[in-house]
Amino acid sequence: MWHNNIVMRSIKGIYNIGIGSSSSHTLGPYKAAKEFAKSFSEEDKVMKFEVTLFNSLALTGEGHFTDRAVVMGLTDVFSGLTEDDIIFHWIASEQTLHANTLMLQGFDDSGNMLGEETYFSTGGGAIERLCKKTKMGIKEGEDIYGEVFSDGISMNKILHYCKKNDLTLIHFIEEFENNDLYDHLKDAWRVMSDAIREGLSSTNELVLESDPKIAKRHFNYFRRAKRMFEKAEMLKELDSSLHDSGTLSAYALAVAEQNASRGAVVTSPTLGACGVLPAVLRFAKEKLHIHDEQRILEALAIAGLIGNIAKTNATISGAIAGCQAEIGVAASMASSAYCYLQGGTNYQIEHAAEIALKHALGLTCDPVEGFVMLPCIERNAIFANQAISSAHYALLMNGAHTTTYDFVLDTMKRTGEAMCEYYKETAKGGLAVLKSDDVHKMQRENIDKKTKEVRRYLL
Ligand code: SF4
Repeated sequence: MWHNNIVMRSIKGIYNIGIGSSSSHTLGPYKAAKEFAKSFSEEDKVMKFEVTLFNSLALTGEGHFTDRAVVMGLTDVFSGLTEDDIIFHWIASEQTLHANTLMLQGFDDSGNMLGEETYFSTGGGAIERLCKKTKMGIKEGEDIYGEVFSDGISMNKILHYCKKNDLTLIHFIEEFENNDLYDHLKDAWRVMSDAIREGLSSTNELVLESDPKIAKRHFNYFRRAKRMFEKAEMLKELDSSLHDSGTLSAYALAVAEQNASRGAVVTSPTLGACGVLPAVLRFAKEKLHIHDEQRILEALAIAGLIGNIAKTNATISGAIAGCQAEIGVAASMASSAYCYLQGGTNYQIEHAAEIALKHALGLTCDPVEGFVMLPCIERNAIFANQAISSAHYALLMNGAHTTTYDFVLDTMKRTGEAMCEYYKETAKGGLAVLKSDDVHKMQRENIDKKTKEVRRYLL
């Protein structure tokens, strides 16, 4: 079910620093649990909690570690709680106001309920608390765009405003956002850069050793980024486009693998899609010889604006509209950022975002066994490449085009509404009909056949 918001909050809300693997299934529930726990005072003597996870949270929550995230959120506030004090209920079939709904209840020692709240995890780590009167979610954050855009915001309205007031999109953002925007973007860029560096050098097996069940299911993605990076370097002289594409893919894989291994990453706009934008920015920094960090932060601001409009007028949640809402929006953010760094005009930037999203329409969310690994990790690499192609396309045009970013967002929304629930983060259809054992078997069979061919090509 759709849960729309007219009011756009700060673009800082697009970039949440957190631990993987999923912003809507891990980070959002963690924040909700912590907020709920903080609502009790010491006198309340809350001793036990019951947590009910509905729909998509129930169906793919185990793979996304939703229960562990909730436990972390509650124990951050009540350190004395043990896992026995927190009881989970998983209800996949009940109709709720949002696909990612969780209900939290706190009890005293005699079993008397001391408080109850329902939260929606709306994507990208954002949460809304259900208002029982209006049956709507209460959003976090200040309404900084509302005075000018009182009847709703859109990219078209922003472009008109910029034209009328002779503003670039960066001037527009700086006019509305608070002074701490660049501090926030600086922190986000630092974590993104660290994720690439750590992802390229990490041996993720160590992180996952503590959980053999998860390690077994981690479909040999370990070190894929590093291998890709090394091979691209090897082929630098031979084929520069292969080098560029391989390097870009390696950066995206590195971040997405960090996410799947529960490392520190930044929602952009979500954690499942968190590899696309950092990869494109790091690639642009090197390829375009950008030495001034402020330019990268401005590109992050542009991407944030594009993502924020999607979050406000459509959705950035795979459970609501499939992967088009996550990877599709991530690609449009990255494409607009790259276009900006290449000197694109306001209209070319909007066009770049529009192209990237338009060619991701209909993309389904079907993670195997509910883990943000297959197809998610590889998809980050492929759409980082798509984002740059989309930016190139827009840069070679004059900004005039038929369908707008707003229209494509609306199309994404309608497509998501019509999409069968099997393709909306329920792990019931698409690639998710595979089980991890099937994947291992297929990998073994394919690797034996292909090894010789690959060697021949590389030599
Ligand atoms: S398939 Fe896409 S939307 Fe679904 S979990 Fe993976 S990255 Fe997120």
